[in-house]
Amino acid sequence: LSLSLSLSEHIYIVMFSLSSLQPSTTSRSYLPSYIYRTPHHRFSVSPPLPPHLPLAPSISHCHRRLRVRSLDAAQPYDYETQISDRFAKSTKLKIAIIGFGNFGQFLAKALVRQGHTVLAHSRSNHTDIAAKLGVSFFSDADDLCEEHPEVMLICTSIISTETVLRSLPLQRLKRSTLFVDVLSVKEFPRNLFMQILPSDFDILCTHPMFGPESGRDGWNGLPFVYDKVRVGNEESRVLRCERFLDVFAKEGCRMVEMSCAEHDRHAAGSQFITHTMGRVLEKLRLESTPINTKGYETLLNLVENTAGDSFDLYYGLFMYNKNAMEQLERLDLAFESLKKELFGNLHDVLRKQLFGKAEGLDVSEERPMLSKLPKNGPALPPPSETLRGQNN
Ligand code: NAP
Repeated sequence: LSLSLSLSEHIYIVMFSLSSLQPSTTSRSYLPSYIYRTPHHRFSVSPPLPPHLPLAPSISHCHRRLRVRSLDAAQPYDYETQISDRFAKSTKLKIAIIGFGNFGQFLAKALVRQGHTVLAHSRSNHTDIAAKLGVSFFSDADDLCEEHPEVMLICTSIISTETVLRSLPLQRLKRSTLFVDVLSVKEFPRNLFMQILPSDFDILCTHPMFGPESGRDGWNGLPFVYDKVRVGNEESRVLRCERFLDVFAKEGCRMVEMSCAEHDRHAAGSQFITHTMGRVLEKLRLESTPINTKGYETLLNLVENTAGDSFDLYYGLFMYNKNAMEQLERLDLAFESLKKELFGNLHDVLRKQLFGKAEGLDVSEERPMLSKLPKNGPALPPPSETLRGQNN
């Protein structure tokens, strides 16, 4: 039996069950409870029942045996609940992921876990995987934009981004929408956003410097690069941008604010080189051995870390970062120079074997042969001529 009465400001609720009148009852849920509430507070009290509360005669005679308990269940009219709901809503975002592939799905998991509302749209149909992750998938970009997400998070491949961006029905979005990208190159999406998006939209360019492999066990300490390219002065816009960045800060990322141009300079010399080495080694089909050194394990890990990424991603790093070509050339030169050093030493040993005893030459004093030769210089005379010349 449950009675609920609302008395102007105060609400009194008496809950008890007839079975609780049995002395043998031990289960807590069977014990009668008395709750005293105001719209602002919740108490645990044991007062006598208010005189104006009618009690059924069959119960009143034994009410002294009733133990009064508080019940702390949140009710729909609970002020605290309403406040906390409002607070949660004010810190949560409605985020639309455009490009729901490998990385888009990886990010969605964290966004959903943090309580944000996540929508997604992609070229392929990812409805099933989206449902499993708690994401609403929209095959039609118009439908997605009509949901008025606060943030459009671009997770498409670098090389398809322009086509995808130009195909979005931007007119269906709210005018103050925040566009964010996570592309592994930064100047390219920055320029694209500035060129294509209406001036009302805010722009935040970001690069989480990790992926599904390297960030598998959490993002703590991993770098997150961002550039607030265009964020309006209104408080709501500033807060929205901060709330988005907070997603990564909360996961423990090392937040690095940096211009897109600076990012691309650093990334070509680090990330592009890493991916290139990973792909070169992958072509060697390295295998684990029973005597792996720590260094070799590092190489195997590098291959594992980079092999999972699509070739589109790697190609994008090369094509859409103007610094990448220079790095590739430097890599080429470094490899050639290393080979020269090796072959120079080898040449030295060979000369010793060929001429050392016969000529009594102290070849050990000589610098490596290759470094002495001028580029495209004349060919070495055959050994017999050399010997003849030196005998003269
Ligand atoms: P990706 O191969 O670079 O991109 C895959 C996504 O692009 C998929 O959603 C795919 O759509 C979409 N896409 C590819 N070609 C398309 C086309 N012609 N038209 C429309 N959509 C197309 O692989 P990813 O690893 O998921 O990377 C996504 C973005 O995140 C990239 O910009 C990458 O640079 C960046 N990022 C990746 C990592 C990482 O570790 N993977 C880390 C940081 C940043 P479907 O869903 O239809 O296949």
